[in-house]
Amino acid sequence: MKYLYGPIKSRRLGTSLGINLTSYKTCSFNCVYCQLGKTNNLTVSRSEYIKIDEIFDELRVWFDNHKEDLAGLGYITISGSGEPTLNTKISDLINQIRKISSLKIAVITNSSLLADASLRREILGVDLIVPSLDAVTQELFVKVNRPHQAIKVDDIIKGLIALRREFRGKIWLEVMLVKSLNDDIRHIRKLKEAIDRINPDKIQINSPVRTPSEEGVFSVAKSKLKKIKDILGDKAEII
Ligand code: SF4
Repeated sequence: MKYLYGPIKSRRLGTSLGINLTSYKTCSFNCVYCQLGKTNNLTVSRSEYIKIDEIFDELRVWFDNHKEDLAGLGYITISGSGEPTLNTKISDLINQIRKISSLKIAVITNSSLLADASLRREILGVDLIVPSLDAVTQELFVKVNRPHQAIKVDDIIKGLIALRREFRGKIWLEVMLVKSLNDDIRHIRKLKEAIDRINPDKIQINSPVRTPSEEGVFSVAKSKLKKIKDILGDKAEII
């Protein structure tokens, strides 16, 4: 399979079948903690990076050959080796999956394009959106996520607030914390203010556990993650 991966077990989604919507590695960010290595196509330009018809053909074949695995699947997860919302045909894929399956669909996104109302409409048909928000000041955002220069974190926050208004499914906001980078308690308090405005269903606190491809990226100590969870409130969990 070229575009499907798994089923994989993850801490947050249980067992899910992943779909990759971008060529390696096309992303609007180049996060310090990325497990996939350096972003070689840092872009905000949307395109049909991978042909949706080819993905869908692969998915149909997988369904035909894995009927016994379907009952154990929690989600079909649109994600992959880059930012999936960069693919202009993401809504076509969601609609086609709906026609052949009653499985729940999740989109994992770095949130970078959510300020765009038309893009938000393209993903409203899923059951779960897992957007990221690691920093709330532009300075820290640039340090952690190393975004394309056109992206402003204030626009991302506005996009997330609008998404919450428009989307009827669940939003599980992921916050990736890197030791001595974005885990300062003053920053966490600002993050909490932004998250309160976004009002996600869950806040999933994460910290790099596997060694990222970059040196100098370390996990936050468990005791500090616990303190941060307490600041972020009842919806927060450490994953
Ligand atoms: S947004 Fe995801 S894929 Fe893109 S660089 Fe960050 S961790 Fe990697």
